[in-house]
Amino acid sequence: MANNIGNVSAQPYYLKTPEFFMIAQERQRHDEPIYQYGEYAMFVLLWNAIDYANGLVQRCPQCYNTNDAVSRVYNQPSYAMCDLCYGSMFFLESAGVGGLGGMKARLVRPCMWNPTDEYQKLVATGEIITATTSVQSVSDFRMRTGDFILKADGTRWRVARHETDSIISGFQAANDIRAMTGYNYPLCTREDESTPAFLAPPDTATVMSLLDTSIIPNWPVDFSSWEVVNGGLISDDYSNTQQNNPAPAEGN
Ligand SMILES: [Zn+2]
Repeated sequence: MANNIGNVSAQPYYLKTPEFFMIAQERQRHDEPIYQYGEYAMFVLLWNAIDYANGLVQRCPQCYNTNDAVSRVYNQPSYAMCDLCYGSMFFLESAGVGGLGGMKARLVRPCMWNPTDEYQKLVATGEIITATTSVQSVSDFRMRTGDFILKADGTRWRVARHETDSIISGFQAANDIRAMTGYNYPLCTREDESTPAFLAPPDTATVMSLLDTSIIPNWPVDFSSWEVVNGGLISDDYSNTQQNNPAPAEGN
């Protein structure tokens, strides 16, 4: 394109190659302080309507009954305190009750918190004590709205908002798997003990004794016997492709 400085194109000819090492390096930088200054928590990932639409899970056989007028008319469970699906209305029949089919996953991971002081709030069931917090954890799983976090002090929290942090290091069709460096939960609210969050096993005394660990010796504790993985740990857009490879792909 000609202009007054000669035959110069406004279009640059150089498209920068993404620097893939940046993703792994940034994930490591994000994860390291969590292992240094964080604490253990138990993360309960529930099934949701997206998983149901993708054919990954079934309706809860206990609280969602299509012959029941409440479920049929309102598309809601006939009772809220369901100890199979913990209120999500979905249940993986192949995992069954023994395999905790109401959970997509239950993981123990380090995380950092900054809760507000407790405050009283009047809700339909009466006055409850609640609080809010943000939570940051490591990048090998993604929580969604409605999932639970079981804190070492015995409180239980529900994810109200989640965010994906990404880093763009070159020209590419970036998505949250290629460019993701971590996930953040900027708003989680403390659940009252009367809610289904407290139906998810293990019981609070066990959670507290498991997670309130001594830091001697100074290496990570193996919680694998407490973990349940019934579905992809990073899902939604990727739920159909990530089922057998739940860890985020590195450098592609
Ligand atoms: Zn149920």
